Amino acid sequence: MNTSNNVLEKAVELLTLHPVCNQCLGRQFAWLSTDSTNEERGRSIKLLLSMTADERVRTGEAKIQDTLMPRLANHGMYGPAISLCEEHGIDVDVSRNCYLCEVRNKSIFKQIPNIARRVLERVISYEFDTFLIGCVPNPTVSERQDELRAKLNLLHAEALKSDFNRELGKHLENLLEKKVEFENPDIVIIYEMTGDTFRLQVNPIFIYGRYRKLERGIPQSRWDCSSCNGKGCEECNETGRRYPDSVSEYVSKPILKVAQGSKFKFHAAGREDVDALMLGSGRPFVVEISEPKKRRINLDEIESAINSRARGKVEVDSLEFTSREVMQNLKSDASSNIKEYVAKIATEEEVSNDKLRRAETELRDIEIEQRTPHRVAHRRSDRIRKKRVHSVKLLKTDEHELRGDFVVQGGTYVKELISGDEGRTTPSLSSLLGTKCTCLKLNVTAIRA
Ligand SMILES: [Zn+2]
Ligand SMILES: [Zn+2]
Repeated sequence: MNTSNNVLEKAVELLTLHPVCNQCLGRQFAWLSTDSTNEERGRSIKLLLSMTADERVRTGEAKIQDTLMPRLANHGMYGPAISLCEEHGIDVDVSRNCYLCEVRNKSIFKQIPNIARRVLERVISYEFDTFLIGCVPNPTVSERQDELRAKLNLLHAEALKSDFNRELGKHLENLLEKKVEFENPDIVIIYEMTGDTFRLQVNPIFIYGRYRKLERGIPQSRWDCSSCNGKGCEECNETGRRYPDSVSEYVSKPILKVAQGSKFKFHAAGREDVDALMLGSGRPFVVEISEPKKRRINLDEIESAINSRARGKVEVDSLEFTSREVMQNLKSDASSNIKEYVAKIATEEEVSNDKLRRAETELRDIEIEQRTPHRVAHRRSDRIRKKRVHSVKLLKTDEHELRGDFVVQGGTYVKELISGDEGRTTPSLSSLLGTKCTCLKLNVTAIRA
């Protein structure tokens, strides 16, 4: 095994073994003099070797056929060496292909302009600013390079994959007048070398905003009929739905339409019950649009479109572009938020003001325990959750009626805090007032971040 670390000696060994193009020769030394291209590195090595050989011929030290010149012409495919050999009547085989990048009988690097043109045709219908190239390299040429790297102890070589990605990326940057971005590209293009195919991954856009729900009976997300699972049956009047509309559809569909995406996802910081209003400054949400054709959409216009279409039902404001991270935090922050509610409460017996004041004191800044309520047991695991109640204010509005103002931790079941849910929430308004309390109406009035 050769242990020399000399670039030129290694290059000679390589050229002795196989035909290698400039790009592939340069790539074997890619981490040396990095502010250069592999093509330039390979060509420079061949030029220097050819000059050395020519000098030996010209000083009479050696005959041309005994120098490196024929190897540089045949395996190096090096133009000046080919000319010199031909001048000296030495046969040159110019039909060779590079051992390290030949795919489908041609250098994969020479196929780049053609590949780029086909990519251009596909991405032209998408609006984007940044992109990234990935590839699945051809296993034969990848393995050849790996073997040579081990055999010749090439310590500064770059993988074919990253060389190809960069070259195709540079070519597309010029063609598209858009930038390669590694962190957060709008579009990822993955080229498959062996099959000569590629696929696009169009990354989603995320739009943040806040919504208010002004009418009861609208679920946050589409609610299918439970008898037919959305297929349509007699019970649901062939609509397939338990409720005709939803907050998520009112908010997301106009965005999906303008962005010309394939589908939407609606992410919100918690959810209110179907029969609760969401008032005040609204609930934060993020709409995710998959595979958008348009990214530079006018959010002011969309906001107006949503608000006029959902007039009296749902209202949005503060629409802005955001990131996946914000969407992810929205969910984890939801249970640490503080939420404010106003409830209309019926009491079985009339309650004295004295008792109301005592209940307010008992509910000041305490932790309550809530076992999963009966009404949601079908979709949430049965366990006990501890939630913080910051304050409760109670006002008698009628003989058997109260107004309750609640400030509680996100995720608190307020209806159960009122009723007690047959002892599953403790303490509760029912237990503190000593009479059965029922929530008649519930509104969310604020979500504090
Ligand atoms: Zn090559
Ligand atoms: Zn149905």
